[in-house]
Amino acid sequence: MEFSVISTELNTSDIKPEKSLRTYIDLLKQDIKSLFSPSQFVESSCPACETRNTQNKFEKLGFAFTTCSNCLTVYVAKRPKQVDLDQFYKTSAARKYWIENIWKTSESARLNKIITPLMDWVRNFILTEFQNEKLKVAEFYAHNTGLHQAWQGQKEEFFLVAATIPEFANGLPLETNKTFHAVCLMEALDRVENPKVVLEAASQRLVKGGYVFVTGILSTGLDTLVLRQHSEAILPPDRLNCFSHEGIEKLVKHVGFEVVEFSTPGLLDLENIRHAAIHDKDLSYPFLNYILNVRKDENLNSNFQTFLQQNRLSSRARLVLRKK
Ligand SMILES: [Zn+2]
Repeated sequence: MEFSVISTELNTSDIKPEKSLRTYIDLLKQDIKSLFSPSQFVESSCPACETRNTQNKFEKLGFAFTTCSNCLTVYVAKRPKQVDLDQFYKTSAARKYWIENIWKTSESARLNKIITPLMDWVRNFILTEFQNEKLKVAEFYAHNTGLHQAWQGQKEEFFLVAATIPEFANGLPLETNKTFHAVCLMEALDRVENPKVVLEAASQRLVKGGYVFVTGILSTGLDTLVLRQHSEAILPPDRLNCFSHEGIEKLVKHVGFEVVEFSTPGLLDLENIRHAAIHDKDLSYPFLNYILNVRKDENLNSNFQTFLQQNRLSSRARLVLRKK
């Protein structure tokens, strides 16, 4: 199994301007109140290992998060149905604000530093594996048009399947009868009602030997483990599922995939912890505070983040799965 270490320079402020982020969260709070009916929510066991034993509950914007005692996946146990999630993303004012403001102002940083490297990652795999074929790539549950935009001009055909982009054509339904050489699930498993159903749908629509590319936030990465409910990444409904390292591996194997790559190429764990401590003076992590605020040594920070990447301890995960 491969793992990769990425060292592109990236700052939180490049991709999440602070003031816009506050506005986004305020809008999100209002949307959650007005667009979801908690009486319609459904109970879920752990989305990774299906056990129901839980620990360490916390609440975020009205959603109750819990931690699976078995595999440490953090998830929302009472959650909206997929049809209500799809509707939420299409009508949410917060989502519209995100795309028109945060996405637009950080578009070039995101395209250069996140989206294009993602596309190159996918292309490298499939162009090596499937030579001389007319390749079809799909993104399931796309949340923005980034990958779609980046793919313009490439020789592969690119399809959006079950996209939840406001004011944008949905693309193909999940039950499409097209088959693909690659399916991209960019943070998609984090925000769907039933990740197993989505993985099974991907498997059914892949050619034999086809690949699934998954990105998401891990509950067992440094900044999520340290910050928990204070993590800016843990926002509902985008993170109904925040898989542990062990949980996601178990889930994808259970669905029948071979894991070809599993890496945590995150760059911002320390930065996210430093950032959270600036905004909430009550947060205190003596060891990390010492590293971040007393040593202030760029080499140390960089070595620390590399250590996290090498040992799959950063919160940003990516996996390549192959259909057997
Ligand atoms: Zn579990």
